Amino acid sequence: MLQLKNIKKDYILAGKPFPALKGIELSFKENEFVSILGPSGCGKTTLLNIIGGLDRYTSGDLLIEGKSTKDFKDQDWDAYRNATIGFVFQTYNLISHLSVLDNVEMSLRLSGVSAKERKERAITVLTDVGLEDHIYKKPNQLSGGQMQRVAIARALVNNPKILLADEPTGALDSETSEQIMKLIEKISKDRLVIMVTHNSEIAEAHSDRIVHLLDGLVTADSRPSEPVKKEREQKLENKKTAMSYMTAIKTSFKNLLTKKGRTIITALAGSIGIIGIALVLSISNGMTSYTNNLQSDTLAGFPITVDQTVVAFGPPEEVTNPRPDLEFIEDDLFAPYDSDSSLTTHENIITDEFITYLSQMNTDFYNSISYTRGLKLEVVNLSDNGSYISVPTSSSGGSFFGGSSYFNEMPNNQTFIESQYDILYGTYPTDYQNVVLIVDERNRIDLSLLENLGINIEDDYTSQDLIGRTFKVVINDVYYEEVGGVFIPSTDYQAMYNNAESITITISGILRVKEDASTELLDTGIGYTSMLTDHLLNIEKDSDVVTAQLATPNTNVLTGAPFNFQITYDDVMRTIGGDSTPVAVQIYPISFDYKDEIKAYIDVFNIGLDEVDQIVYTDLAETISSTISSLINTITIILAAFAAISLVVSSVMIGIITYVSVVERTKEIGIMRSLGARKKDISRIFNAETLLIGFTAGIFGIVVSFLLNIPINLIVENFIDVPGFASLPITNALFLIVLSTLLTLIAGLFPSRIAAKRDPVVALRTE
Ligand code: ADP
Ligand code: MG
Repeated sequence: MLQLKNIKKDYILAGKPFPALKGIELSFKENEFVSILGPSGCGKTTLLNIIGGLDRYTSGDLLIEGKSTKDFKDQDWDAYRNATIGFVFQTYNLISHLSVLDNVEMSLRLSGVSAKERKERAITVLTDVGLEDHIYKKPNQLSGGQMQRVAIARALVNNPKILLADEPTGALDSETSEQIMKLIEKISKDRLVIMVTHNSEIAEAHSDRIVHLLDGLVTADSRPSEPVKKEREQKLENKKTAMSYMTAIKTSFKNLLTKKGRTIITALAGSIGIIGIALVLSISNGMTSYTNNLQSDTLAGFPITVDQTVVAFGPPEEVTNPRPDLEFIEDDLFAPYDSDSSLTTHENIITDEFITYLSQMNTDFYNSISYTRGLKLEVVNLSDNGSYISVPTSSSGGSFFGGSSYFNEMPNNQTFIESQYDILYGTYPTDYQNVVLIVDERNRIDLSLLENLGINIEDDYTSQDLIGRTFKVVINDVYYEEVGGVFIPSTDYQAMYNNAESITITISGILRVKEDASTELLDTGIGYTSMLTDHLLNIEKDSDVVTAQLATPNTNVLTGAPFNFQITYDDVMRTIGGDSTPVAVQIYPISFDYKDEIKAYIDVFNIGLDEVDQIVYTDLAETISSTISSLINTITIILAAFAAISLVVSSVMIGIITYVSVVERTKEIGIMRSLGARKKDISRIFNAETLLIGFTAGIFGIVVSFLLNIPINLIVENFIDVPGFASLPITNALFLIVLSTLLTLIAGLFPSRIAAKRDPVVALRTE
């Protein structure tokens, strides 16, 4: 059955070989009960481990059923241990967190026996050793003798040809020893039993043959058996062990359940990173849909504007500094520079041609086009203190360059204005004789506007003090007096005020920009409608000053001076209402997407035009939304970086925890190996464990994130009034669960390899 040929075993100690076995010659028959007797340290365990394929001999040969094991691979040894050998140890070596039944089933799991058969066979052997009433107990709920019976049952469940017992009664009292020895004796009737002991009484009482061992050598053999002749063909049934992945996962699942506390903590650690990433994804998802909504709802309402003057940042300033790179130089060196050179302005000259071109644009692109005209209002009023005054409509410099205007024509798009402005009191103008007062965020009105309108300055006003106020717009023929071909404004404000042709204008409402408005579209002050402009233009086109200007295209009728590049004929004509061509245009697209169509349409107009004649448009919505989205991108990147770090940290933590678990379970690994587990099986079990932990961590992280999104949404709703802001798309959630599983698996790969590589002999000796 077994033949040892000059087996030697050296342990390497501090680099030098230490001989534990010095050339063992032994043969064993199929049915005998052999005791190996010898003092402690003589090499009994070493010999048994070599016979059992747990340890490797240094030289010599071990023949199993006549077959040499010199060329055995790891997997052959694993199969041999699993199918042919049953081990019984002095310290029982049961897996403490598994039940009696599971302990016995373990070697059947490793050989891939079905669950049903496993249970039946395990119960049968447990009944044989007299433990049928204890199968669901844990090892620590049993007595020493009972534990050894479990170990024997475990060794027998695979029906091995050889039972190896290393001091099986060493830890038991004499009465229990006797019972165990009787059991082993019975077992030896139909298989080879090799028992190691230092107790000669027990050896003599129960065994058929006693081999004496001393200092690594056989000194006596009571019944040496002849080496087996090769008369009959020897058959070594070395069926490969095969534990399926499913069994590995089920085994790990059982392991995890028996250590609930640790499993939960590990899963918690693993979920931290997942929670981080899930929250980042929820929030950035919320931000993206928020901007999309903003774009389609709010920003879509923003017009593409062609303003009279467009300020653009040109190329960087020419460096005139002799030491351009240096700040705070100490040398006596100063340089001039042009502060305006980095700002370039473009004057849009809106021609009739352009207006016609716009009117031919596909009407599917835009809701409306609104025009601002250059016509300057001439206003007089009766002030609160009873005097007649002229009301300046802009602060300085007229309406050409700079100088803020107090009176402005509002875009002809009430819907859009109302989307950005609240009508605090009164109504939006419904005819040309009504205007609105536009106040700032703090309900303030510019002092000079109040003074200009002739309103007494008070500490505060109510809406009743302001709504219903009137002033008069004076038409050209009343406003201008011709003196020698030059038209000069009259100064008789009373006469102008009382002239029947002057138009009475009433403040009908007060507007204030909305708290969440995207932009301040209107200047504060008086906003009048295009109805008023249209009404006036209709009158002024036939006025004396316009007729005179038409007749003398080279002389400015307002000054008598010739036109120059600063004040052109067109400028003057637009100011006095002789030319209704707009100075600014606002195009309101149907939706955000049509902006590009509109812009492309204007670009076509510019083709072939000189730079000065080109139309430069502004897309405020794009500026706003690109600012927002670049902000969002930045935030997302920063958050994702944090989340990634926490993911890495939690993976490392899982790796460490798995490693600790490997160390902690060294003994268990040794036991599994002695039962025939392959290295692969060990790593599979550990990998399955990390897989399950990663999966749990993923699920846990997603659940926590969903819960955390609730308070986040409450907070966000407080700020921007958007319900359900943060939300995690289901695809992202699934992705994160997979990610968590994979990362944890990867983090556990290294420790599980360590576990698989553990030397089973060393592992078994660990306490
Ligand atoms: P026994 O079981 O007869 O008490 P062992 O087979 O356990 O003896 O040990 C035989 C000898 O080999 C002892 O001297 C022991 O110190 C030594 N030995 C056992 N295992 C190792 C090891 N892993 N490394 C080094 N020496 C060992
Ligand atoms: Mg020993």
